[in-house]
Parts: sequence; structure tokens; C-alpha cells
Amino acid sequence: MANVTPGLVCGHHHLYSALARGMPAPPTRPRTVLELLEQVWWRLDVALDEEIIRWSAMLGAVEALQSGTTAIIDHHESPSCIEGSLSIIADACAEVGVRVNTTYGVTDRHGADGARRGLAENERYLREGGRGMVGVHAAFTCTDETLAAAAGLAADLGAGVHIHVAEGIDDIGAGARLASLAADDWLLVHCVHLDRQLPGTNAHNPRSNMNNAVGYARPTRWSNPVVLGTDGIGADMLEEGRLAYVRLREDDITASPDTVWQWLETGYTFFPEARDDRVTWSYDHADSPWHVVFTPGMRAVDVELAGGEVVLRDGLPTRVDLAEVRARSAEQAARLFAQL
Ligand SMILES: [Zn+2]
Repeated sequence: MANVTPGLVCGHHHLYSALARGMPAPPTRPRTVLELLEQVWWRLDVALDEEIIRWSAMLGAVEALQSGTTAIIDHHESPSCIEGSLSIIADACAEVGVRVNTTYGVTDRHGADGARRGLAENERYLREGGRGMVGVHAAFTCTDETLAAAAGLAADLGAGVHIHVAEGIDDIGAGARLASLAADDWLLVHCVHLDRQLPGTNAHNPRSNMNNAVGYARPTRWSNPVVLGTDGIGADMLEEGRLAYVRLREDDITASPDTVWQWLETGYTFFPEARDDRVTWSYDHADSPWHVVFTPGMRAVDVELAGGEVVLRDGLPTRVDLAEVRARSAEQAARLFAQL
């Protein structure tokens, strides 16, 4: 029995969506993942500028710390503000005291030049020493040339590719198109409709998958390592773990919370040092999977990073002022909504 655990890792996030909560409704009601992308996320991402990216990352990082999450694997897209965007996110997370691995999601949605600029941003950030991977939005929004270029850049830099794979049926061809490219250091997100096993780690996002009605990813059907992600809906990994557990049990009554615990543990392959972060929780059995999956509302009280710095005390960030982050984020959210 202990109320202390290592820091938690979010295996797939979109920090840029932190300000999207409460955004104006789309003109018509989306019926597929593609329509959701077209009417919600692709209208949002084109409106992102430097200040919106910065404050959305600050707010997302603070909320992560408040959930005991000390490391985030982020996937970013801002087609009107590509150059330098990854450094804005990395700087914001560093200011708060959260580790981040970020990446720019390359796509041909904005033509070959947009894809080239996205690749260049990944390369710039990684060559300057940024922590990240090479990002691709998804196979179905990229040409074969772009997919090959991203895979080649990732291989050259030893970085791996972070890509959405067969989230919805619109991307049903992803398995065939990625089969000759994927490698063990790739991060394959969703894999709900994937028709074959690909090398890499699968990022499972149960809440997002349920919200988008794409079906159950059934991550235990593959032998790949599985990491839990939120797909941009916060970074509360114990909450995501509880949902992952009941979704797993809905499919298999014999399943154990130890499986979900393993998915949380997989995060340490990306952030080994997060194992040495110390999170003190509001509940005494925080290290017991069978307790945690039945204990909604557990909160992180204190977070001490490896090395000894306390970045969350009594539930509040120590490096930044929570009220200021919320106020500045609200200003940027109002600007963002005005554009939508
Ligand atoms: Zn995603």
C-alpha cells in the first residue's frame, strides 16, 4: 500500500486541442470520422497561431501535471503556422515542468508544399536537439511519396514515425500502404480498423474512440506493445486507464486491470526517466491496479521530478501561476472561437 507512484506518461496527445473545449458547433452534424475532421479539427487547426499554440500547450501541460502525468507524447498540426511550432510547444512544456516528445503531423491536405514544410519542421526541430519523432497525420491524407519521405527522414534521424493508423474506415488502406515502411520504433495510433499487424507500438485511445464511434480497437489482439493515450482529451492517465479497463471488460469479462497497468508502463519505453518522478496521490492504494480502476476522482497532490524539483504542490503548479495560465488561455480561446 502506497500513495506514491512514478510519473505517468500520456502516449498520444494533441496539446493544441486544449482550447477546443466549448468551441462553436460545426455547421452540419458530422456522421463519419472524415466529416469530423473536415468540420471540426481541420477548421480548428488552420486557425492556430503562435499565441494560441503556446497557451494551449501551457494549459495542457498544467492539467497534465495536476493529473500526475509528467511526460506527454504530442502530435501537432497548425497549417497556418508550421515553422517553429514544435519549439513553441516544447518551450511551454519545459516552462511548466512536463517532459514532451512532440512531432508535426505531415499531410498533403494543403498540397505538396504543405507536406514539404511539415517534414522540414520535423527535421529542423529534431536536428536542433528537440525531443520528438517524425509525425504523419495519416496514410489517407498523404501520397505514397510523402509517406516514404517521412519514413526515410525518421530512419535517417533514428526517430521513428508517429502516425494515426486506421482510426476510421476512411483509412482502411493504411495497413497495405504502411506495410513496407513501418518499423519497431514507430508509434501507431488507434489501429481500430487495421487489417494486419505492423511493427511498432500501438497507442490505444479508448475515450476518443468511443466519442468518435469508430469501434473497439481491441488492442490485445496484437502482440505489439500498447501504450495508453488520450488523443487530446486531457492527460489524466488514471482516468483513461479506468475507461480502458471497463471497455476491455465489456469485451472480455476475464480481463484484469494488470493489462491496463502494462499499457501505462509501456510509456516508460519513451520516457525512462519518468519512472524516477514521484507523484503523491490523494488515495492510499495508488500503486494497486485493482484499487485504482475502482477509485474515480483520485488526484495528484504533489509531483516531484527526478532530481528533486517539486513542480506541483498541494495540487497547484509551482513554476507558473494557475490563475494566469487559465486567464491567458481563455483569452486565446476567445480569439480562436471568433475565427471559427
Ligand atoms: Zn490523435
